[in-house]
Amino acid sequence: MSSARLLLDMQQIDQRLATSAAEFRKLASELQSEGNLKRLRDESEVARVKVLETRLEHGKLDAEVSTQKARIESIETRLYSGAITNLRELTALEEEHNLAKRNLATAEESVGPARLASEHAAAKHEALQIQLIDTEEQWKVTSKELKKRARDVSKVCKGLELERNGASAGVEERDLALYRNLLPRKGGVAVARVERGICQGCRIKLPIREMGQLKSADNLVMCSSCGRILLAT
Ligand SMILES: [Zn+2]
Repeated sequence: MSSARLLLDMQQIDQRLATSAAEFRKLASELQSEGNLKRLRDESEVARVKVLETRLEHGKLDAEVSTQKARIESIETRLYSGAITNLRELTALEEEHNLAKRNLATAEESVGPARLASEHAAAKHEALQIQLIDTEEQWKVTSKELKKRARDVSKVCKGLELERNGASAGVEERDLALYRNLLPRKGGVAVARVERGICQGCRIKLPIREMGQLKSADNLVMCSSCGRILLAT
């Protein structure tokens, strides 16, 4: 069998190997990213922190409302007790009373929206938790299938590698080196058939001289247009 023919056989194995290797890489990457799980876990963690933050804010405002109410009550007790007769002291207390009322109003205005935000954050976190549990269950099944498929594809790859090594056995080292060099540079097609005088690698008609070489030469003949190894059919 001619070198070019042996190389074409190798190329067919290499092409199948490339397809299987690409599938294996895809499976490995799917397994590594754990489907949607990573993204969901991140989102759930962000939502959990948001729950804590909004709860804290709501708690602070609630405490502020209580504080201001207590303060107003204490000021009013002093104001209306009749014990303070000094005008300056009375004015100061009234100012303090107004300030406390303003502070209370501000806190009361914010406490409602803060409670809503806290409830909203809790609901969102809960929904994400449920989604996460569901997705984790699904992933258990999916990952099992993916792992099995990856093992199968890996076996196919190993088999093809053995087959390729066997196919390369009869090829001269110099021709093999040329083939290996061409394969990645020519989009996985290092050997091209010649049909009706046309190189199937680049679809260009071969000059008569090249056709002659192809028929008579023992060495590999390259396409003068695309540089691929030619195989007469
Ligand atoms: Zn060509």
